Amino acid sequence: MNHTKSEEIYNEALEHIVGGVNSPSRSYKAVGGGAPVVMERGKGAYFYDVDGNRYIDYLAAYGPIITGFGHPHIAQAISHAAETGVLFGTPTQHEVNFAKMLKEAIPSLDKVRFTNSGTEAVMTTVRVARAYTGRTKIIKFAGCYHGHFDQVLVAAGSGPATLGSPDSAGVPVAVATEVITVPFNNKEEFQLAMEKWGDEIAAILIEPIVGNFGMVMPNPGFLEYVHDIAKEKGAITIHDEVITAFRFHYGAAQDLLGLKPDLTAMGKIIGGGLPIGAYGGKKEIMDTVAPLGPAYQAGTMAGNPASMLAGIACLEVLKQPGIYEELDRLGGILENGLLEAAKKHGVTITINRIKGALSVYFTNEKVENYEQAEKSDGEMFGRFFKLMLEKGINLAPSKYEAWFLTTEHKEEDIIETIAAAEYAFSQLAL
Ligand code: PLP
Repeated sequence: MNHTKSEEIYNEALEHIVGGVNSPSRSYKAVGGGAPVVMERGKGAYFYDVDGNRYIDYLAAYGPIITGFGHPHIAQAISHAAETGVLFGTPTQHEVNFAKMLKEAIPSLDKVRFTNSGTEAVMTTVRVARAYTGRTKIIKFAGCYHGHFDQVLVAAGSGPATLGSPDSAGVPVAVATEVITVPFNNKEEFQLAMEKWGDEIAAILIEPIVGNFGMVMPNPGFLEYVHDIAKEKGAITIHDEVITAFRFHYGAAQDLLGLKPDLTAMGKIIGGGLPIGAYGGKKEIMDTVAPLGPAYQAGTMAGNPASMLAGIACLEVLKQPGIYEELDRLGGILENGLLEAAKKHGVTITINRIKGALSVYFTNEKVENYEQAEKSDGEMFGRFFKLMLEKGINLAPSKYEAWFLTTEHKEEDIIETIAAAEYAFSQLAL
């Protein structure tokens, strides 16, 4: 495959944009370096780079693009916004319509607020929990990523962990000491933390189904336990559903798991590909937010018509019957095909799959927490990533990121992907 133009553009980008990328996880640093492929356009499950190469995409822009690129229903909504005004700085009917839609799909939301990113949404839930409880400490789980604000860049996963610097420079020690990190799926460690600091904990920040050290389900009873102890100690439960909302069914992971958090943060899918975040939850807690209450959160672009209309259109697509069943079916074919191909060439992998999202770990251990995910062989993944790219399959350039199917992937795309993987595994086995 020829990548001449990608390399040229990337070299130019290096001169003008720090690291040549606008988000560190887009660089190929974690997969052995080199110029990232520069994309020109996308359609359905495919995108095309500036050198004219076609890829089947499993990055889905790190999650939002669940309906593929250029979906006509979403494109129409965005054009309507472009023609009728993309920003007013006043309330609009669209915001109300979208808030109602989210509330109908996710019963724990009494009230909602829109933001511009998942980071902003999670950041605000933490502030609101602190304002409501009058406490300052939070508990998070090791390897879970909640955005790039100070309090959550403490033993975080996703991009920061991949780059080998889980804590960011510039985060004050005073902030980090307000955050307690415990391993996911470990009741004992959680219990110890709550015994020690329970009365000082404002919130427990939870990715209910982890998406940031691969896809990891909570073990049966784990999150129920976390919720029970949080309640007992007067701490707020925050579900970070930035990845999981509308990923596995028409609603949030909390409904699949039978949980009702106090607050929920969302993003990614709910924007239909445009910038968005949202948070919501129990009325009495949400009423702490300005202008009703003393916790401040605002945004010039928050609730902008383009993001609202794109988000509504995306959910309308996802509400069609059979969508999630098909994602699950294709995910199953992909999982089995990858496992068989790896086995055929004697390559050891473990796959965690939840419907249309899966992760491939180069380890023979099961992966239930970050420590186990870290054991996945990064060098092996880096080689696999590049072999797949050469065969026209685009994955996230990190061993921790999930593969996401979209409503536009067809069975023939999955077959092509499995054939590419078989080639890649055969090369790894040499
Ligand atoms: N929370 C989770 C679980 C995420 O995966 C991410 C981003 O990957 C965020 C929050 C931050 O969202 P954003 O990148 O939109 O700020």
